[in-house]
This record gives sequence, structure tokens and C-alpha cells, in this order.
Amino acid sequence: MAVIEIIPILVPVKFDLKTVNFYLIKQNKSLTLIDGGYNDEQCWNALISTLENNNLQLRDLTEIILTHHHVDHVGLVDRIVSKHPIPVYASPLSIPRLKRDKAFFEMRVEFFSNLYRSNDCGEKGEKQIAYLHKAIRNNQKKAMQADVIGITEPTLLNFEVIQVPGHAPDQLAFLDKTGNQLIAGDLLIEHISSNALVEPDEHGNKLPSLIQHNDSLSKCMSLNVDRVYSGHGKIINNPNPLIKKRLERTEEKAERLLNQIKSGITTANGLAEVNYKKIYEQQFSLVMSEIIGHLDYLEHKQKIQKDLLHGIWQYSVTSACKI
Ligand SMILES: [Zn+2]
Repeated sequence: MAVIEIIPILVPVKFDLKTVNFYLIKQNKSLTLIDGGYNDEQCWNALISTLENNNLQLRDLTEIILTHHHVDHVGLVDRIVSKHPIPVYASPLSIPRLKRDKAFFEMRVEFFSNLYRSNDCGEKGEKQIAYLHKAIRNNQKKAMQADVIGITEPTLLNFEVIQVPGHAPDQLAFLDKTGNQLIAGDLLIEHISSNALVEPDEHGNKLPSLIQHNDSLSKCMSLNVDRVYSGHGKIINNPNPLIKKRLERTEEKAERLLNQIKSGITTANGLAEVNYKKIYEQQFSLVMSEIIGHLDYLEHKQKIQKDLLHGIWQYSVTSACKI
């Protein structure tokens, strides 16, 4: 039986994520880093001092594995690999995102442009699209330089590789069966509910992110692990009651939207403005993600339907649900 030792690196951050977490994994022949925090001095110093405190050095690292492509999980990769070349593994879906593939990001902007227009987001949507266009140009230089190897096998270094999309389309979790523990990226966070972000697939079709996120949470629950090593905040012992709470919260939110649709609000943008007021102004894309995700969820449950009227999706309650 393979014994896996997990050494957590928890780096405090000022905003509500509390910490960014990454993990050193010690096994007999390897020393793996799972995730790489932000590209900043705090994360770098935390990595180096944790290695030193365990009588290890950077050159003892044998590979890096990424849970997903977000900037707070991949920051140190190039800095590590430029000093000490080792393989970097991630989901094949992470690669165009990490490499800032231009065609992929142009398709993504096109996707959001259609999404915001067809959900009646008006000027607010146009502004966000202009921002995304600018970001493509600025982010070219943030493309990961290291070669990334796509994980295609069901196991990697004594971990079972589990697909847990939702928060990000490429998110993976790594199950240590012997230790009954799971390293799960941002699937489950102890102090806040993880966002299921609306994203296109590689063909430009909308992914059902919230439905995927809930399925991933249910998958995690069925594993009955003792511990979840999260991407932010505390390490979660006995995670199942928290997972149950998160799944119930989705139901409550969806129910609230259903009642608002019943009362006559018909567009995603209308629901976003009513429910989030100030946050709608400050965090427009997150709010739209939240609303559209829950509308997809209600549609999936056949509680609502949508019809395109003059290019705008109009939501209404299905006849089965009116009773
Ligand atoms: Zn994160």
C-alpha cells in the first residue's frame, strides 16, 4: 500500500478567500507539488520555507500537478520550472487556457458577447466584453512557458484522478485511497461556497457549470473521504455534511429565482439586478454566472423554459410547474 504524506502550504491572503493553498506530496520516490499559488513573493517564500522546514529543497521536487488553470493555482509554475525543470501535469482541457491560446480566447469572448446580449445585459455586458477583448492582448504575456502534459490516465502517482468540473471546466481532484483523502482544488471551500463559473466548451457551447458542480459535489460525497484538501481556507475534515449544505443552498437559491419568474421577471439580467443590486454593479460577470447557472439548473429540472424573443431569452415557468 502506497503511503502518501501531504504537507499543506497555506498562504494568507487579504480578501475573502482567506488563504491560497497548495500541497507538497511525499511518497517514497517522489516529491510532488499540487498547485502553485499566486506568482508572488509570499507564495514563493512559503514554498521555500516549507521545503526547508521538512529538510527538503526545490531540487527535490519531481513534478507539479495542477487541479485547474486559475491564476491562484498556477502562479509559481514557471518560476519553479525555470530553476529546476520538472514535468507539469494538468487536465488536457487546461492546456489552451494556460497557454493563452489566441483562437480559444477569441472564441470565449465571442461566447460571452452572445451570452450577455441574449440575456439582455445591455451596456453592462458591452463593457465586460470590451474588458475581455483588452485582456486577450494583455494576457498574452501571462501564457505559461512550461510544457504541460495532459493527464489522460485514470491514475497518477498513486492518486486516482477524478474529474470534478463546475468551478472550472478542467478541474481535477486527486484521491488517495489508502489515506481516504482527496485533494480537490476549489470544489469545496469550508468558509464560502465555491462559484460555478459559466464557461464555453472548446466548441463555444455553454457548459452547464452549476449542474456539473453539483454532480462533482455528489461524486465527492459518494467517495466518503475523511478529509478534503481545499484550494482555499481550512482543510476540511468529515466533508459530507458541508457538501450536503452546499447542495441544499443551490436548491434554495433556485427556488427563490423560480418564485421571481412566477412573479413576472423574465430575463436573466432582470433577475441579476433584483437579487444582487450593488454586487451586480461591482462583480457583473460573477453575478451573471450565478444567475445563468441557476436558470440552467431550473431548466434541467424542467421547472422553467426559455424562448428567444427579439434576440433575448425570456424565461417562464413550465406548465407542469404552475400547478
Ligand atoms: Zn482558487
